[in-house]
Amino acid sequence: MKLIQLDGTSGGGQMLRTALSLAMVTGQPFRMTNIRGKRPKPGLMRQHLTCVKAACEISGGTADGAEIGATELVFRAGKPRGGNYQFAIGTAGSTGLLFQTLLPALLHADGPSTLRLEGGTHNPMAPPFEFLDRVFLPALRRMGAEVSISLVQSGFAPVGGGVIECEIQPCPQLAATNLHERGELKSMSLRVPTRNLPISIAGRMLDAALVQFPCDDATVEIREPGPGRGVCCLCEAAFENCEELTSSFGETNVTAERVGRRAAKLMQDFISSGTPVGRHLADQLLLPMALAGSGGFTTMVPDEHVPTNISVIEKFLPVKFQIEQADRGRRVVTLASALDG
Ligand code: ATP
Repeated sequence: MKLIQLDGTSGGGQMLRTALSLAMVTGQPFRMTNIRGKRPKPGLMRQHLTCVKAACEISGGTADGAEIGATELVFRAGKPRGGNYQFAIGTAGSTGLLFQTLLPALLHADGPSTLRLEGGTHNPMAPPFEFLDRVFLPALRRMGAEVSISLVQSGFAPVGGGVIECEIQPCPQLAATNLHERGELKSMSLRVPTRNLPISIAGRMLDAALVQFPCDDATVEIREPGPGRGVCCLCEAAFENCEELTSSFGETNVTAERVGRRAAKLMQDFISSGTPVGRHLADQLLLPMALAGSGGFTTMVPDEHVPTNISVIEKFLPVKFQIEQADRGRRVVTLASALDG
């Protein structure tokens, strides 16, 4: 089969993860050059390498060039097989991103699967566990997927040591999603998970977030015992047709109040946008939507993950995405089969 050529210069690890997912689903091999080309440390990092190795294992595939720091990789998948798998990233690399890489293949596997993934569960720049559980998976369930995940142990960056478990039933044909209206607001909540830090930090974070995102259901969650330390602020809103969860993470030299306000501001922006799909869900829905073969959603002004992810998907599948500008800066993303013109 012809090798799909991909240039990773314009994006990050997501271009590689999407390519791995689609190579496993479609059976098409690829060569990616300039992997994470413009990142400060280009090439495969531990979390990307774990995705490659896990993809080899669940699909009986092979990877040439799979080494830390490699900027070029050739991947050939076999057929994804259901089963019970365990993968440890070995750093605080995101278990959520590893899960999202393997999920499309395991939906196309010959039987049910379980995954036990070790690494980070609460990392800046990746979906926290709660985002997957409360936003991403509900969206996929509306497309017919039967998938559940549970948090065995939180793992805060930079130490990690977290564990998630996942159960996945095969679902070779996802249903189309058309998500343009969010419907009535059903609930709002605020959570501040924390470990091995003075409780006053979490309390200040919660109070600052509450000023901008007032809600009755607001709690500090002590995630102890466990390795390392960390704290984050999670703002959640559930609507009739969709969910959103915004997050911000404690950093040294950044006040707890500022971290709390950051998550709340992201949620305010989402609420005032009037859209059902937030900035992160937008790029994460593209692949499931392309596998469904049709559908669309309305979202906020997208970040660079949307065009780079589309560029990879369109190389593997006979689909074409359109992004149209709507009122109030909103964007309508629709999928048309490339074969239909
Ligand atoms: P790199 O280091 O190359 O940037 P990466 O592998 O860490 O690579 P990206 O390519 O930037 O990651 O992809 C990150 C993914 O995580 C994207 O799908 C993005 O939408 C998602 N993401 C980042 N932050 C959040 C968040 N706070 N909530 C939900 N999803 C998030």
